[in-house]
Amino acid sequence: MSGPIPRAGVLEIPMYVPGRSRAEGHEHVVKLSSNESALGTSEKAMAAYRALEGELHRYPDGSAADLREAIAGVHRADGDALDAENIVCGEGSDEIIHLLTAAYAGPGDEVLHSAHGFVMYKLSALGVGATPVAAPEREWTPDVDALLKRVTERTRLVFLSNPNPTGTYLPRRELVRLHSCLPAYVVLAIDAAYAEYVTRDDYASGLELVGAADNVVMTRTFSKAYGLAGLRLGWCYGPAGVVDVLNRLRGPFNVTAPAQAAGIAAIEDQAFVARARQHNETWRNWLESELRRLGVTYIPSVTNFVCAGFPDKEKTAAAAIEHMMGHGILVRDMNAYGLPNHARITIGLAEETRAVVRSLETFLG
Ligand code: PMP
Repeated sequence: MSGPIPRAGVLEIPMYVPGRSRAEGHEHVVKLSSNESALGTSEKAMAAYRALEGELHRYPDGSAADLREAIAGVHRADGDALDAENIVCGEGSDEIIHLLTAAYAGPGDEVLHSAHGFVMYKLSALGVGATPVAAPEREWTPDVDALLKRVTERTRLVFLSNPNPTGTYLPRRELVRLHSCLPAYVVLAIDAAYAEYVTRDDYASGLELVGAADNVVMTRTFSKAYGLAGLRLGWCYGPAGVVDVLNRLRGPFNVTAPAQAAGIAAIEDQAFVARARQHNETWRNWLESELRRLGVTYIPSVTNFVCAGFPDKEKTAAAAIEHMMGHGILVRDMNAYGLPNHARITIGLAEETRAVVRSLETFLG
């Protein structure tokens, strides 16, 4: 090969495969492949975004101070003790995941995650030359014992998607048990990207754990319930030591001014989030009941998506995905998650969710 040669291992990193956004022959598609917000974006967030168009020549506030204050304020109003000083904002929670990995792991180190956790943990670990280690799950749910069994003196980070990309979750007591059994040198990163959708009493996003330990970080996103995926905005809440490290590593202006402004308006519009949660609950329950009626198995979900299961032969997940695509409906194949027999369907608007069921009806004949 001529030309510059990247670091060993870089060319072995698999590319992230995003959810499809096009279907041949369809100008307009029903995009249910990336767990985006069914209700779009809050009017208030869109107005805040538009209001900045005359300011695009200015650099943003590199510390995102107002946004951090707004996030802390909203969570404090919810009864959580959250300090703006302990928040770091990023270009999506993807960036926070990258920063954590780059900060705490390198060649020879291990980054532990559960088998169907968010794929970026593995890709980020490979990106810094560390070794990703996958622990098996039980019933598509992270298994605390399986994770703990794989902790070694080389483990630097444990990433836990809670909820999981399969739709399941670990209850608070299991989260606490996982943390209490981890050595102090391991960072526990709890990725709560779908927290806003969860309505179970025994669920905890991880906020309280962060406040009580030096080695727990919780990551969140504006891409899902807040409907700002296109602006790329996420954040984490962590202990002072971790926050200091991330602030040294991040770009000085890593969050754009429109993202900060829209993020503030979005998080302050909790009425929009409540509507999103309610809509999601209604239509997820409906989709799950329709799947039962059609005899399609699924992984029970607490999130804004449902993983539907299909047989190995004939009416496979790949065939179902292809069939839905023929109707202009895009859902996610779960190959990158090692679940080739599942199709992941994001909860959309009422009519979109109904269209999924109609398409599956014709698929199953
Ligand atoms: N964590 C999980 C579990 C996700 O599903 C996603 C988005 N697909 C992310 C993190 C990253 O989200 P973002 O970078 O948009 O904040």
